[in-house]
Amino acid sequence: MALLEIEALDAFYGDFQALHGLSLAVAAGEVVSVIGANGAGKSTLLKSIAGLIRPRRGAIRFDGVPVTGLRAAALVARGIALVPEGRRLFPSLSVLENLQIGGQIGRPGPWTLARVLELFPVLDERRRQASTSLSGGQQQMVAIGRALMSNPRLLLCDELSLGLAPIVVRDIFARLPSIVAEGTAVVIVEQDVVQARAAAGRLCCLRQGRLVLAGRSAELGLEAVRAAYFGV
Ligand code: ATP
Repeated sequence: MALLEIEALDAFYGDFQALHGLSLAVAAGEVVSVIGANGAGKSTLLKSIAGLIRPRRGAIRFDGVPVTGLRAAALVARGIALVPEGRRLFPSLSVLENLQIGGQIGRPGPWTLARVLELFPVLDERRRQASTSLSGGQQQMVAIGRALMSNPRLLLCDELSLGLAPIVVRDIFARLPSIVAEGTAVVIVEQDVVQARAAAGRLCCLRQGRLVLAGRSAELGLEAVRAAYFGV
């Protein structure tokens, strides 16, 4: 049984349909990348899974239990955590305080403050600093660490690479295996196709709210991915 099962999901913003009959399954400990151009519906998919958007039709099951329409806090308690697009840190709080907030709801598990600081040692050096004084990459680390503090079984990452230099992006993606090693499944939403393909066992491509390509990353050629991405 998959950890996450999404079946025929339709999501709307008012009259505008952003997701059309989207189905996707993620196994425990798996890394799946969701790629697609601007506006393809990637963030909408993650927000639907995380309980920030209530889908109009379709079903989401987590660990075999229907969770469609549950609120975000209830989903965090069950083990679903989101690293939101643009990081959304609490600007007036320190690195430490941002991380601690992530631990306030959630579950017991391997991720403690000490373990998060071990994963991102630079955050330990800057623990007392305001989160706004950090570089973009370090802020992204705080956002990931904050999500890990709730000990998710499923970590949803929305465009980790946004606004970051390639070397910083590589550095952040290099930490993913340590997260997966704890048994956490990861869904990565990315516009950076190369990074997304390298990081995940499976790749899904969305276009205009529909799943247009899915398969094992190793088996999908870059040409096929590019064609699905641009719809050519
Ligand atoms: P991006 O890379 O720009 O984040 P995305 O693939 O994540 O793109 P979504 O943010 O999920 O795309 O948006 C999907 C569609 O829904 C787009 O057409 C977008 O304009 C629309 N949309 C997103 N958020 C809203 C909103 N709050 N109100 C109305 N329409 C929205």
